[in-house]
Amino acid sequence: MPRMTQPLPYLHGYPEHLLARVRQLIARDELAGYLQSRYPDPHDIQSDRALFDYLNSLRQRHLRHAPPLARVRYDNTLDVLHNALGLHTRASRVHGGQLKARQEIRIASLFREAPAEFLRMIAVHELAHCREREHNKAFYQLCEHMLPGYAQVEFDCRLYLTARDLRASTST
Ligand SMILES: [Zn+2]
Repeated sequence: MPRMTQPLPYLHGYPEHLLARVRQLIARDELAGYLQSRYPDPHDIQSDRALFDYLNSLRQRHLRHAPPLARVRYDNTLDVLHNALGLHTRASRVHGGQLKARQEIRIASLFREAPAEFLRMIAVHELAHCREREHNKAFYQLCEHMLPGYAQVEFDCRLYLTARDLRASTST
C-alpha cells in the first residue's frame, strides 16, 4: 500500500497536517524511536488489585467527592480499535433505601505493557468520567488538571497503538 495513504485508524479526527507528520515518521521508520525516547518508563501495575489501588489513589487526590470505585480491572475484551481503551460504567442500585452509584472501570489489557504515562492517561480519562459523562470541554479540563499535557499524551498514546499494530503486521 502506498505510504502516503496509510490508514491511521487510531487518529481519526486529528488535523491533516499532524497525520502527515505521523506518516512521515512511519515512512522514515522513526515512530518507535520517537515513542521510546519520549516515554522510556515502564510501570509495575500488573494485577487488578494494583490497578485498583493506582486509580483509587488518583481519585482520592483529584476527585475526593466522587463516589468510591467499586471495581477496577484490566480487560482483554475491549475493542481497542473502536476507541474502547477503557470503559467507565455506573450502575445505580437501591441500597438500604438509598440510591447508590456503583462505579466500575475497565482498562484495556494492553496498558499492562504500555509506558507508565499512557496508563496514567487512560486512568485519568476514565476517572474524569466519574464527573463528566461526555467528552466536553469540562471533561478535558479535568483531564488536563489531573495530567498536565493530557492532550499530547493521548495523541502519543494513539501513536503507540499505531506503532504496535505496524509491528504486529510486519512481524507476520
Ligand atoms: Zn471517554
